[in-house]
Amino acid sequence: MFVHDALPMRVVFGAGALDKVAEEVERLGLSRILVLSTPRQGALAARVTTLLGDRAGGTFDGARMHVPVASVVAAEEAVGAAGADGCLAIGGGSTIGLAKALSLRLGLPSVVVPTTYAGSEMTPVWGLTEDGRKRTGRDPVVLPRSVVYDPDLTHALPAAVSGPSGLNAIAHAVEALYAPDGTPVVSAMAERGVHDLAAALPTVVADGADAAARALALQGAWLCGACLGATTMGLHHKLCHALGGMLDLPHAETHAIVLPHVAAYNLPFAPEADTVLRRALATDDVPSALRALAARVGVPAGLRALGVDHADLARVADEVLAAPYRNPRPPTRGDLEAILEAAWRDGP
Ligand code: NAD
Repeated sequence: MFVHDALPMRVVFGAGALDKVAEEVERLGLSRILVLSTPRQGALAARVTTLLGDRAGGTFDGARMHVPVASVVAAEEAVGAAGADGCLAIGGGSTIGLAKALSLRLGLPSVVVPTTYAGSEMTPVWGLTEDGRKRTGRDPVVLPRSVVYDPDLTHALPAAVSGPSGLNAIAHAVEALYAPDGTPVVSAMAERGVHDLAAALPTVVADGADAAARALALQGAWLCGACLGATTMGLHHKLCHALGGMLDLPHAETHAIVLPHVAAYNLPFAPEADTVLRRALATDDVPSALRALAARVGVPAGLRALGVDHADLARVADEVLAAPYRNPRPPTRGDLEAILEAAWRDGP
């Protein structure tokens, strides 16, 4: 038996889709929109503001990594000053995270325009950081009402960000394939998403302006993000959450480095997931194919290349062991140490 609970999200996808933002806002009956971005993407926010015309209520370019509460409070003030009845987030997971925080705290509806492959726009998961601690939760109120994917906006995503970000998306699909709440719909999305990203990423990294590869990669990221939104993640996400939180590591790179090692550990205990991934990656050795893809798209060679001190791995293993979660193969402390060791050295 399975239960498939489809999330009610509208997707507008295609080169030039940014031009549709005013229509999307109008469709939702919103009249004053606060546009959210990071400081780096201020020019893009200004472009959206122009496109929104008289529905633009103001901009807030203070989105920051991990959604610090201080940035949410500042954005709430901007919502009040603008008299906004909705927001539009343009950017990666950090900016979309800010829109989710405003939806959670104010009930403000959002339209989002993702410009990375992180996938947050497809999930009801929110995160907020206060006093150095990140809290997360699930609430359908944070789901964007409309997601506008325009691959043209990803041409500017640097190769060094595109590769790891794409592998991060693939990790969502890999874990969805052995999740306790997986369904045939999720499996189909995961297979297609992994296939599209694996096919597109090498070209994306070699030539960021290749429009066909950018479109395929973003489509894969959408499907993998939808897998993340529909299921409960396992050991891989737990490990990366602990590594990122305890050692302050870059999110996408950490996922990209750890994924082949968790796949090697889990897939012998998840034969159906292994079969789907073999098809998606056209290989009979999924962990090796994932490692080869990561190397080809410029993922750093092992956690040590991120500056992780070997002595910290034991603490991370303790943290992962302390909190329960579902995984096809329940790891012992020794297993965790072995996975972390392999990910640190970038060895088999
Ligand atoms: P990010 O949003 O932090 O973006 C990184 C930087 O790249 C920012 O300065 C941004 O402005 C810039 N950038 C984004 N798109 C660009 C483009 N096309 N061209 C040039 N620069 C661009 O990074 P991210 O990887 O998208 O998101 C990571 C965050 O998202 C993490 O905090 C993670 O926890 C969160 N996340 C949440 C969920 C969820 O379901 N809640 C899912 C995935 C990720």
